[in-house]
Amino acid sequence: MTQTPSIVDRIGASEATGRIPFSVEFSPPRDADAEARLWRAVRTFEGLQPAFVSMTYGAGGSTRDRTVRVTGDLAEQTTLLPVAHLTAVGHSVDELRAMVGAYADRGISNILVLRGDPPGDPLGEWTKHPEGVEYAEELVRLVRDLGDFHVGVASFPEGHHRAPDLEHDTRHLVAKLRAGAEYSITQMFFDVDDYLRLRDRVARFDPEQGAKPIIPEIMPITSLRSVRRMVELSGSRLPSALEERLDRAAGAGPEEDRAAVREIGISVATELGERLIAEGAPCLHFITLNFARATHEVLSRLGLAEPAAAAPAPVAGAGAR
Ligand SMILES: Cc1cc2nc3c(=O)[nH]c(=O)nc-3n(C[C@H](O)[C@H](O)[C@H](O)COP(=O)(O)OP(=O)(O)OC[C@H]3O[C@@H](n4cnc5c(N)ncnc54)[C@H](O)[C@@H]3O)c2cc1C
Repeated sequence: MTQTPSIVDRIGASEATGRIPFSVEFSPPRDADAEARLWRAVRTFEGLQPAFVSMTYGAGGSTRDRTVRVTGDLAEQTTLLPVAHLTAVGHSVDELRAMVGAYADRGISNILVLRGDPPGDPLGEWTKHPEGVEYAEELVRLVRDLGDFHVGVASFPEGHHRAPDLEHDTRHLVAKLRAGAEYSITQMFFDVDDYLRLRDRVARFDPEQGAKPIIPEIMPITSLRSVRRMVELSGSRLPSALEERLDRAAGAGPEEDRAAVREIGISVATELGERLIAEGAPCLHFITLNFARATHEVLSRLGLAEPAAAAPAPVAGAGAR
């Protein structure tokens, strides 16, 4: 397997620059148009030099081939450092091993290990594959046993929706880190205090594991409908004051006022970023939905990128994120 830098190496390298690194999340494209759009975003981000980029994995392997192919293309055809997501749900251990092998064959050694949610209804009952694993912690061990992989895991500032309480949630996050995960990336959130409390809980629970980076995930909101859906699917929370603000901006017509919603979304993401930087976050990880513009705008407001060249005004509803 080709050795690539780890995420922790990349974060360490940017400490010397005195500038917080950032990273972005992509999803496997559904069709040729979406793939062309993804590559436009990829090329924009390439110019902005993120510490790494991650590629999600569809629940139960629904995007397996596309995730491997596109993540491999990112490794081979760009200067970006890809992190491949891998979820346990719906897979036997043999299938999971084969997936890790497929990533390794494409030169990918950074893997974000996840349990995944039940396909169809993410909040529905979780059922383990008869020959699979029950929790992400077991998958961390499995991947680590397969070779020299750098593993990250998920963390949840508001607590995972299936965890009975924050104590339980912290215990199992620490177990994943002790099993060999080098860092975690959080679920998106809108209250920085939730992130700070998570960081404090992990540090109190196990100071050694608490020293590992907890990378906060930020979603620049560009559509009220899509953020509502993401919040619903992930079991996270959209604070009611923010939802009301977005609701008012969206207006009462059949089409939401995307420009007004987007302006609030970008301001909110910028404020989150400013506070996270002030609080010493190790890196800012952005959900992009395979569009570059909104994240680029937030980065430039944070002083982490040059502003984008002026582009023609987007056509309403034409995917102008
Ligand atoms: C940054 C990020 C990226 C993501 N990317 C994807 C993706 O690409 N594709 C996708 O399908 N989903 C993705 N998800 C969603 C994720 O798969 C779900 O949130 C899933 O429900 C939890 O995954 P996990 O790896 O945290 O699970 P786990 O760590 O296994 O935890 C699941 C639940 O079990 C509890 N638990 C853990 N271990 C034990 C134990 N030993 N005993 C009892 N309880 C335990 C935990 O507290 C938690 O409530 C992502 C989430 C994040 C935050």
